[in-house]
Amino acid sequence: MKIIVQKFGGTSVSTHEKRLLVMDKVMQAKRLGYSPVVVVSAMGRKGEPYATDTLLSLVDNSFKAYNPLGADLLMSCGEIISTVVMSYEFSKKNISAVPLTGGQAGIITDGNYGNAEVKDTNVENIMTVLESGQIPIIAGFQGRTEDGYITTLGRGASDFTAAILGVALKAEKIEIYTDVDGIMTADPRVVSEASLIKEISYNEVFQFADQGAKVIHPRAVDVAMKGNVPLVIKNTLTDSEGTIINILGNVNSNNIITGITSMDNRSQVRVKFSEENDYNNIFEILANNSISIDLINIFPKETVFTINEEDMSKFNYLMEKLELSYSIIENCSKISIIGSRMRGIPGVMARILKVLTKENIEVLQTADSHTTIWCLVESKNCKKAINALHKEFKLG
Ligand code: ADP
Ligand code: MG
Repeated sequence: MKIIVQKFGGTSVSTHEKRLLVMDKVMQAKRLGYSPVVVVSAMGRKGEPYATDTLLSLVDNSFKAYNPLGADLLMSCGEIISTVVMSYEFSKKNISAVPLTGGQAGIITDGNYGNAEVKDTNVENIMTVLESGQIPIIAGFQGRTEDGYITTLGRGASDFTAAILGVALKAEKIEIYTDVDGIMTADPRVVSEASLIKEISYNEVFQFADQGAKVIHPRAVDVAMKGNVPLVIKNTLTDSEGTIINILGNVNSNNIITGITSMDNRSQVRVKFSEENDYNNIFEILANNSISIDLINIFPKETVFTINEEDMSKFNYLMEKLELSYSIIENCSKISIIGSRMRGIPGVMARILKVLTKENIEVLQTADSHTTIWCLVESKNCKKAINALHKEFKLG
């Protein structure tokens, strides 16, 4: 059996018209001789009736905190509704599709509600459905514990569900369908001239995903790469070829930069060391309190790094308790300029800084690795900075 996993995001399943396009994609795969396994997200985006955020707003934060089992049960409903509605669309065309929760599809997790780890994937039920010639429609983003409680796998994790199933089913490929043509040189909502990247390496796309590009979940990339299942990102609404993710990326390209992404809600902090607390102690205390830090620079008397704005009140509390003096610049964005071909090519950082200076954009911090250069800027300058860099590296 030639299995293909096809995952459809929230906007792709949001209306009857779009669900018809979803069916087209599934039937196209069937005509090519594949047995499709469909994974769906909750219908629509924030504000729409069955979207995850809407469901979450039915209860308050303290309820979610002391009743995580209930919170996960609530959050899992969006995807479950989506599987049934999608199966209904198929049935109206006399095609038999079977809606399954993540747990029924065999995704077994630990009991860490809200961010459960997948422990095992038992694809027996999916195989039974496939062998009967029907199409399994599976709720993304969820699993169940061994004793049957529904868990969720973290936001955006329907992509991850698709990847896990693709590997467990030894699928020929995993297709992630969304509302853009594939992975673009930048978020098309930020850069109107962003262009489609036809081929990209797992490593580059992992950087993209990990550094803020919503288009694919980083864990999905990781799982597909390790399981050696080809991954393709496509548009439900068009016939674009999409983006193929492979080991080498686009070996024929001369462009040193593949694309640009960014992450908002960063704060830059500067902490002065005290007699009791050098950077080792400070980093250890932050780690013990689950505050992750980034863009770390250490100087003789102080350290500078960034944290997520969500962690700010916890951070302030800790610094005051330790009697450390510190300062903060809030509302920053971390821009990532990604390209595996920049390795060993001198002058890329200089070009980046020159462009940003020309645009009067202050760069608060930089860092670099073999494949990525990071620049921290104030969020109000982020869009302008990305557009300027996109132009400089001729990505349009
Ligand atoms: P889905 O609901 O289908 O999972 P997401 O909203 O999670 O969709 O991801 C798709 C969105 O990702 C696009 O609408 C686009 O605005 C955004 N995005 C951010 N960076 C990129 C990029 N580099 N290429 C394509 N899309 C991007
Ligand atoms: Mg998504």
